[in-house]
Amino acid sequence: MSTDNSTENTQDNNQDDNETIIVENPFHTARLKPKRKGKKPPKLLAVVHQSGCTGCEVCIQGCPVDSIELVPGPNPENPQFGQVVEIDLARCIGCQNCTQDCPWETIMMYEHDDAFTAWSHETLFSELYVEEDKLEELKEKESK
Ligand code: SF4
Ligand code: SF4
Repeated sequence: MSTDNSTENTQDNNQDDNETIIVENPFHTARLKPKRKGKKPPKLLAVVHQSGCTGCEVCIQGCPVDSIELVPGPNPENPQFGQVVEIDLARCIGCQNCTQDCPWETIMMYEHDDAFTAWSHETLFSELYVEEDKLEELKEKESK
């Protein structure tokens, strides 16, 4: 997997033909997502180290707030192959269920602010990437 920090990181999965995987920017702006209203941020947040994730989905079932998202594998015809998960830091409440449930010990808890740095390094594939120009739109919707 590539961890190039370009805004849109493109991997050529098959050098012989034109099959290309688009990988979202791993250094994304999770921190800038709309804040939870009226609640203190959790002390800890969970981050998946995707390089060790097998996509077994065990962690998803134990999350009380549905904050663990599946990231499909690169082949749209077989998305389960090579799938991983990521955690939406805007929803995680830091309950630690997922760290205890993961059979591969690839989810770690971090202090709230440190989790955003860890997320940016460990989340190689993302479904939750928010482009900066969409952030204002998102924030407006949240405030209504
Ligand atoms: S720490 Fe709890 S809330 Fe956060 S992702 Fe893991 S199971 Fe979900
Ligand atoms: S339980 Fe661990 S290995 Fe399985 S999907 Fe979750 S993070 Fe990945």
